[in-house]
Amino acid sequence: LQSRLPAVGTTIFSRMSALAAQHGAVNLGQGFPDFACDPKLVDMVTVAMREGFNQYPIGTGARVLRQAIADKIARVYGWQYDVNTEITVTPGATEALTTAILCSVHPGDEVIVIEPAYDSYLPAIELAGGVPLLVQMEVAEHGGYSVPWPRLAAAVSERTRMIIINTPHNPTGSVLRAADLAALADIVRDTEILILSDEVYEHMVFDGEQHESMCRHPELAQRAFVVSSFGKTYHVTGWKVGYVAAPAMLMAEFRKVHQYNVFSVNTPMQHGFASYMDDPAPYVNLPAFYQRKRDLFRKGLEGSRFELLPCDGTYFQCVRYDRISSLPEAEFAEWLTAEVKVAAIPVSAFYRDGKDSGIVRFCFAKKDETLALALERLARV
Ligand code: PMP
Ligand code: GLN
Repeated sequence: LQSRLPAVGTTIFSRMSALAAQHGAVNLGQGFPDFACDPKLVDMVTVAMREGFNQYPIGTGARVLRQAIADKIARVYGWQYDVNTEITVTPGATEALTTAILCSVHPGDEVIVIEPAYDSYLPAIELAGGVPLLVQMEVAEHGGYSVPWPRLAAAVSERTRMIIINTPHNPTGSVLRAADLAALADIVRDTEILILSDEVYEHMVFDGEQHESMCRHPELAQRAFVVSSFGKTYHVTGWKVGYVAAPAMLMAEFRKVHQYNVFSVNTPMQHGFASYMDDPAPYVNLPAFYQRKRDLFRKGLEGSRFELLPCDGTYFQCVRYDRISSLPEAEFAEWLTAEVKVAAIPVSAFYRDGKDSGIVRFCFAKKDETLALALERLARV
């Protein structure tokens, strides 16, 4: 069979998790919590199953859940989506992202992708026949990553169909601020360019700052697919439930593809999430929860030979390791996993050309004991 995706292999996340298991390493590679979700959430899903919510829901998502999502977005970001026409529940953010690309990108259309970029964007663009235009973030010598807006503006042409944004950003832990969104708005104003906004880490912004969702900015919300994931917010990455919100005209096209791609998302979990979302506390408290883990992890690395990059959001901490090794990132991550018994993700996996910056990513969504064990090992490197 001639491959539709010849350059694609097994994802770095699967490979590093397998390597971590093989070497009995603490897995700070693939991003997922190693602690339990709230048992109340499990109870609510169980109740939904017992109450008979076990057949196909409507394809766009259980109404109660779409309502809960619309209410949350209105409460947190002040933007009111129509429950019937502007919200769709998806099997994780991944399907939402791929479907948003497939439904709107035509062969030959250009899509601007900011690198480092989450690994699912480029294959989806390729399947659609689109042409990715890559704009690399800038990384300050002893500072963090930022989006070079003038360079991004220069990449725009009359063939640009979409710009993909990810904030808070995986893997860099950087967060867009209001000024960044103003720059983005300047770029797309008076064009037909769509925005695909990956906001799966929306509830993990630290130090008292707020998440700049596209939904806070009406000018941007009107042209955006906004994607989020319950896996991240509620510590259940394996349940694979997320959603997309978009203006009705965009959503109508999204749903055409979605209905033949997956049709619907499992029913009992949708009802479980709908009940659970009555209480905003879990996501309101999430920044403090992860900020504490971030601080614990950073403090533990302070005395080590790793150099910490800023982490303003997400559950990822990037580090430079040039005081330890001159190996390329992928080899360093493999060595760290096999010999030090702590797994990490090479940031080069987020660049199409494998750009190597001597930086790896650790995930700190772990029990304090897990972090303590990893820190003890990392301090000895
Ligand atoms: N986007 C980003 C930036 C992510 O980090 C992830 C999860 N690793 C996803 C999308 C996919 O989310 P989900 O597991 O809900 O499909
Ligand atoms: N998004 C997760 C990460 O960045 C991984 C998800 C996956 O394995 N596909 O680590």
